[in-house]
Amino acid sequence: MRMTHSQMYSRLLASDPAWNGRFFTGVLTTGIYCLPSCKARKPKPENVKFFPTCDSAREAGLRPCKKCHPDDFALGADPVLESIEALVAEIRARPDGFPDARAIVRRSGFGPTRCFELFRLHYHQTPADLLLSAKVTAAKRLLVSGDKALAELSADSGFDSLSSFHEHFRAANGMTPSDYRSLRSADTFEVDLPQGYPTKHLLRTLGRDPQSLTERLTGRVYETAVALEGSSAVVRLEFAESVVRVRVSAEGGATAEQRAAAHGVVAGILGLAQDAPGMVRLARRLGLARLVAGRPGLRLTQTPSVLDGLIWSIIGQQINLPFACTLKRRLVEAHGTRLAGGLYCLPSAGTLAGIDPCDLRPLQFSRQKADYLVGAARLVAEGRLDLAALRGMSATRAERALLSVRGLGPWSVNYLMMRSLGFADCVPVGDTGVTSALRSLLRLEERPDADATRRLMSVFSPHRSLATAHLWQLNQPDP
Ligand SMILES: [Zn+2]
Repeated sequence: MRMTHSQMYSRLLASDPAWNGRFFTGVLTTGIYCLPSCKARKPKPENVKFFPTCDSAREAGLRPCKKCHPDDFALGADPVLESIEALVAEIRARPDGFPDARAIVRRSGFGPTRCFELFRLHYHQTPADLLLSAKVTAAKRLLVSGDKALAELSADSGFDSLSSFHEHFRAANGMTPSDYRSLRSADTFEVDLPQGYPTKHLLRTLGRDPQSLTERLTGRVYETAVALEGSSAVVRLEFAESVVRVRVSAEGGATAEQRAAAHGVVAGILGLAQDAPGMVRLARRLGLARLVAGRPGLRLTQTPSVLDGLIWSIIGQQINLPFACTLKRRLVEAHGTRLAGGLYCLPSAGTLAGIDPCDLRPLQFSRQKADYLVGAARLVAEGRLDLAALRGMSATRAERALLSVRGLGPWSVNYLMMRSLGFADCVPVGDTGVTSALRSLLRLEERPDADATRRLMSVFSPHRSLATAHLWQLNQPDP
């Protein structure tokens, strides 16, 4: 597909890293060429010439930019990204080695502004938030695996006081560290809901597929069949006023690791890690309070597994919701595993990889959808697409890995990144729910096209995933 000058120019204005490598930007006035994502000052359109390769830009007499290193990128190397990824790996391995965000900036070798920008771009988080979640994750690991006293454990995870440990741990997990430790012995636990949590909106979302065989909503009880640590289990959530009571059932009894994994699934369904207040402040600052009115605490519910998101993002392409639900039901009925109690576990990637795509045709899968689904499952089964690793990757790396999967375009990739990998600043470009809501929110004459959607959504950065969640609710009646 050829892009026009103005399409490429709009990507350049958006500093959109998704287009790195697809073209290079030559600035005739400075004699320099860049990646589309370069944050250097934006040239006027008449001074820009686009090149398909670095070589062609150099042949035109231009030099590579020293800020975005287009040649390194073209060679498959991305030293700036790699240095940030190495730093993040270090933070996650030893969060106690970084007393605060200033220590991260110092270690990065970049200035504070640039370091902050790079974390936002590649992890959709500030250095401080990433450090905090690394500390909480380290603490969770220690709580389940050992018997250290809380004071020692809190220091080992990098918290500077027991009270800050408690406060941050509770906010991120909806329970105290001691209750989290009890997951080792009890199949039931409670998760506190943040104040003002819009439970009704979440229940509506959880119940949007009434035909589903893998999940079931009955009143205020939601059950979902999930693979936990490699074997199937049912996680049951009962929503009370300000708390969710959870029960984990697995054949032969759930292990401590499975219960900890179940807690992770519940925290994801509730979206506890998301900065809902930040999104509300942003909407108000933009004069768009209408977007968040009536549901300020809204989160974007996460799929129970990445495979779940992957299957759904392929099935859901270019068809309406009821038909997508029907296809999923047929797939699960034919190839999933029925558990005691009647719910089904999704077919594993290995099972899907073994299906002949032709066998999905009688279920009304188009030939293309069947090929895409089985093809993606084969990549997972053969270890060429590591779904578990995606969650720990930088957003940039995860996006590249997903875009290389046949059948995943920008819509599916962004959908997966926001709904299954938890990235905070994604836009599923081309989503009709988003474009029609933008049209009514901003009183546009028509639905914005892909370029206009990117431009309009840019004001919601760094909360574009949550802005999308609100847009999906905008034209629906209050539940
Ligand atoms: Zn540049």
